[in-house]
Amino acid sequence: MSENKIPYKVYLNENEMPTAWYNLRADMVSKPAPLLNPGTGLPLSAEELAPIFCEELVRQELDDETAFFPIPQEILDFYKMYRPSPLVRAYCLEKALGTPAKIYYKFEGNNTSGSHKLNSAIAQAYYAKNQGLKGVTTETGAGQWGTALSMACAYLGLDCKVFMVKVSYEQKPFRREVMRTYGASVTPSPSTETEVGRKILAEHPGTTGSLGCAISEAVEVATKNPGYRYVLGSVLNQVLLHQSIIGLEAKAAFDKIGVKPDIIIGCAGGGSNLGGLIAPFMGEKLRGEADYRFIAVEPASCPSFTRGKFAYDFCDTGMICPLAKMYTLGSGFIPSPNHAGGLRFHGMSPVLSQLYHDGFMEARAVEQTSVFEAAERFARTEGILPAPESSHAIKAAIDEALRCKETGEEKTILFGLTGTGYFDLVAYQKYNDGEMSDYIPTDEDLEKGFAGLPQVPGLE
Ligand SMILES: *Cc1c(COP(=O)(O)O)cnc(C)c1O
Repeated sequence: MSENKIPYKVYLNENEMPTAWYNLRADMVSKPAPLLNPGTGLPLSAEELAPIFCEELVRQELDDETAFFPIPQEILDFYKMYRPSPLVRAYCLEKALGTPAKIYYKFEGNNTSGSHKLNSAIAQAYYAKNQGLKGVTTETGAGQWGTALSMACAYLGLDCKVFMVKVSYEQKPFRREVMRTYGASVTPSPSTETEVGRKILAEHPGTTGSLGCAISEAVEVATKNPGYRYVLGSVLNQVLLHQSIIGLEAKAAFDKIGVKPDIIIGCAGGGSNLGGLIAPFMGEKLRGEADYRFIAVEPASCPSFTRGKFAYDFCDTGMICPLAKMYTLGSGFIPSPNHAGGLRFHGMSPVLSQLYHDGFMEARAVEQTSVFEAAERFARTEGILPAPESSHAIKAAIDEALRCKETGEEKTILFGLTGTGYFDLVAYQKYNDGEMSDYIPTDEDLEKGFAGLPQVPGLE
């Protein structure tokens, strides 16, 4: 083995857990575009990011070269409570489909927050604590991220302030109560607590809120209160780095049983679970060591990859956050109110955006009724009640397995089962009552979002 190959082995500790996160950017020839300062149009420096994010997280965010970041022992100790997460062969689903394909899923719902988001929440909370901060602020949409962060903050003794998209705050009171049980304060967004919230309320009275708007509020509170920083559950490079634990564990488990997946599928909201799941496999593809098909699955009602533009855009509706170059529907885009399946963010991880742009990954959009149909099928065969977000990946995995049935190919499919759906029963109820409909935005709808894309000085 040549020396430069040695680091790409996944090192496992005695609990069979990876001891370092893998930074996919290190192996990308065309790197993701840097975050820009919206005022100057210049790449953001570590100094400019320091008032918003913790120091170590800024370092991780800006580092495109270091392949492995050792996971601090305190984080490994926390991971040990719910990791390694199971890699499961879906025998019953395979049988029900009558497919020659082998279907595996990596299940991240095996913790109270019910999703993969805890993997990054504990890391971000740890670095905040290590820096001597008092607390963190964030936004949450469906509530998984806020729950994960409140769990991590409770464990480390940090204050946690969550702005929850108003429609979810009202529709998901149980989520809210879980967060409060872990000690977080939860505010419906837009709120009157922030300048940006008051501005949005004045412009759009009665709005049910959006993730982008909640982000603006959380950032404002973090930057105005000493001892606080903002943390984000997806999209950012640092979050994909932490989520690489999913893919590293999956790779180690596959290597152990001598199986190589052919197709790797993940749902895509901001891109963190998908980026984490595919990381070590994509690394192999980028280095020319192995080939895989990667498929990102998104809602047809919020189609960032499949119908978005690859452009610099704000990550938030309030347009106070840095500009990221990504596939985006425009920061003003809000999915139709009948959309119940999560994955509502207007943009996409810059890392995944670049990989998709360069042809290393495919993407497809699926309609929500077909997503819930796949969820029901999965629940009835495999027993787990999946999150609607995860069910986008299930839908694509089933479609690929059925294609194998037609062609007789014995492909191995891996998909990310990112979480459980216990808090999504209002959406399930709609589906069960036959009241769920599909809304696909028209080109005209999308044009409105694109019209709001910022003009970046010196670019385009
Ligand atoms: C947040 C979430 C997603 C989508 O976020 P990504 O950053 O795209 O991974 C998917 N599944 C579940 C269960 C989630 O909570």
